[in-house]
Amino acid sequence: MGNESKRLFDDASRVIPGGVNSPVRSWRAVGGQPAFIARGEGPYVYDADGRRYVDFVASWGPLVLGHAPAVVVDAIARQARLGTSFGAPTAGEVTLATLLVDALPGVEQVRLVSSGTEATMSALRLARAATGRDRILKFVGCYHGHVDALLVRAGSGALTLGVPDSPGVPKSVADLTVLADWNDLEGTRATIRAHAVDLAAVIVEPVPGNLGVVPAAPGFLEMLREETTRAGALLVFDEVITGFRVGWSGAQGRFGITPDLTCLGKIVGGGMPLAAFGGRRDLMSMIAPVGPVYQAGTLSGNPVSVAAGLATLEALRGEGSYERLDRLGCLAEERLRAVLAATGVSGVVNRVGSMFTLFFGPTEVRSYADAIGSDTERFASYFRGMLEEGMYLPPSQFEAMFVSLAHDDEHVELLAQAAERVLRRI
Ligand code: PMP
Repeated sequence: MGNESKRLFDDASRVIPGGVNSPVRSWRAVGGQPAFIARGEGPYVYDADGRRYVDFVASWGPLVLGHAPAVVVDAIARQARLGTSFGAPTAGEVTLATLLVDALPGVEQVRLVSSGTEATMSALRLARAATGRDRILKFVGCYHGHVDALLVRAGSGALTLGVPDSPGVPKSVADLTVLADWNDLEGTRATIRAHAVDLAAVIVEPVPGNLGVVPAAPGFLEMLREETTRAGALLVFDEVITGFRVGWSGAQGRFGITPDLTCLGKIVGGGMPLAAFGGRRDLMSMIAPVGPVYQAGTLSGNPVSVAAGLATLEALRGEGSYERLDRLGCLAEERLRAVLAATGVSGVVNRVGSMFTLFFGPTEVRSYADAIGSDTERFASYFRGMLEEGMYLPPSQFEAMFVSLAHDDEHVELLAQAAERVLRRI
């Protein structure tokens, strides 16, 4: 790392645990200290030492238009001049909520919140209230934010840093979480049936991105829909990553499966803190002040965040956005697969739309066990090599890479050429 990043990290480590405000930003799993980012522009980020990188992290998903797009920056500035927060309803919230309801088949009403964690936490509370049941089912390696009940065998940072279960989560809460193995169709079906009397909800990332991208096997999501209905439990799609990423109508539109509740985040806030949960009207009408399920937030539906989200979604709505994102994703997959073949390195590229992961080691990754069987040491060397090549990747094998509308074929080609050079020398 450059001197300025080093200095900042030393200072940060004195006053912030581990020097970072979210553990995934630490580079512990890949060795070294994180680059401090000074600014972003289109597909690039610049670190505190002035080095430029092609960015494939996209702030972990939100930046589907790239960094600092003029339409979003202008919308933020315009709203900031009018005021940054009122704690009262504003017109923009109505426009954004209407857009979300129109776009997502499973969303008839929606409540805006400030983070994905709040969205999943609130959706679970609602699911428990609506069913009168306490138990929830999640998949090993899926990550749904740091909600107590969901921090059990979680993916993303918890998986990367080897802290699958957090101290501080009461045993009585964790005991209410039932686990199943992603893509284990018969095992999951049996688990749902075994808990049919007390299961409130199954929560799932319809395209898991937090153990690396591991798409659903054919029929798996359909089975979840069928079995939750049969058990009288709710199906909750955590579309915090996939919402407006894998299509205008999210994974639910892309795969044609309508969940009872949906969690959104990342892209809907256009790079500002904003998230949402929504679903069937009969369920959402149980939320306060209409119903008894309490949920609230001082900065919920924050006008600046709403302005950024709306500007992002309006730009994305433009013709051909998803065709372009899919095409770029496809090109990245093909080029990286070709690099593996050319260098003789064992691995596989998993992808849905513009989210993808290059796993080292196994030639097929369909399950949690496959994913954790990957070669994290090779990944760490690859990550460090790619950084030297000016490629900014997520500092973990178990994360998704993203391309945005600010990337073009040339950036994907730069990625592939850098990967080839790195894999030949590590
Ligand atoms: N759900 C998923 C699928 C996520 O990937 C994340 C965060 N990466 C969250 C929920 C939590 O969102 P937040 O970090 O905004 O709390």
